[in-house]
Amino acid sequence: MTNLPKKMKAVVAYKAEDFRVEEVDRPVAGKEEVIIKISACGICGSDLKAYHGSDMYWGGDDPWMKAPVIPGHEFFGTVVELGEGAAEKHQVEIGDRVTTDQINPCGECRFCQRGQYWMCEVHNIYGFQKDVADGAWAEYMKISNTSKIYKIPEAISFEEASLIEPMACAVHTVQRAEIEFEDVVVLAGAGTLGLSMTQLIKLKTPKKLIVLDINNKRLELAKKHGADLVINPTEEDAIKRVKELTDGYGCDVYIEATGSPSGVKQGLEMIRKLGTFVEFSVFGKETTTDWSVIGDRKELDIRGSHLGPYTYPVVIDLLERKLLSAEGYIAAKYKIDDFEKALNKAHNKDSIKVLLKP
Ligand SMILES: [Zn+2]
Ligand SMILES: [Zn+2]
Repeated sequence: MTNLPKKMKAVVAYKAEDFRVEEVDRPVAGKEEVIIKISACGICGSDLKAYHGSDMYWGGDDPWMKAPVIPGHEFFGTVVELGEGAAEKHQVEIGDRVTTDQINPCGECRFCQRGQYWMCEVHNIYGFQKDVADGAWAEYMKISNTSKIYKIPEAISFEEASLIEPMACAVHTVQRAEIEFEDVVVLAGAGTLGLSMTQLIKLKTPKKLIVLDINNKRLELAKKHGADLVINPTEEDAIKRVKELTDGYGCDVYIEATGSPSGVKQGLEMIRKLGTFVEFSVFGKETTTDWSVIGDRKELDIRGSHLGPYTYPVVIDLLERKLLSAEGYIAAKYKIDDFEKALNKAHNKDSIKVLLKP
């Protein structure tokens, strides 16, 4: 039905530090499946961790990475092939610009059955599990029959569209924080996720938004995107400063998006009693801290946040209304052949987001 090529170029991950550019079979749409031509795919911190080989990704009997797999979960593209019944199922046509959740839900476990698809027990994430969830560091990608597909309106730019996935995660995290007008909110970490959270927290209009990061370039961007105050904890005593600003009580809400154990300890110290602590990060190593702070001393509300359930439409709407911005995010775009250069660029903390553009 289409004149699409039988082969395509893709990055294939075999093991840590062994990712190769290869000619592979182009995915073909089965029943209710959709093939998209990739427009762009971001490089996430988790991709870097996978590439550099943390134990979490490649260790043990049941490693998270099921290789050989095509990485890439922050993508958008154009519909180029529809399997039988796919147009009706997903309400899309050839030529539509679309994206989907990073998770490919099984549709059958108790979480999927209850609409809690982002916690799917099987938990296939595009870009991490071969065959069932190949990702988008490729020319084409297959979207499954259980995925939700979201159309991207024309008013949304290329750069903005490439940030929908991380922004969707940021919306969920900010929703978990249940921010009130009188809250002093501290957000730790001003990467792609943190900057997006900065914009979203601002939309919630708290009394004060303080953003922490150890990189001053990122802090400058956080200011542009709505932070009332920025602090670099390597230059200033952040805990003391937050306490001073809150009559000694501490912040009402602390959102942890640094990925570093020190971001957790710092938060537990600077948050007030009965405060809300939201954990977003994925860590490369374990965090050790005194848990009595959570119960005995502060009676904290500790909440996790994972992926972006039901938040893709929120991001698309906010982008369309120009309430979210991609300004300053995209550091560079690379071809698939240059993925190693792209990974190096993404490793530099001055780069917020690096894109692969087939
Ligand atoms: Zn990601
Ligand atoms: Zn499931």
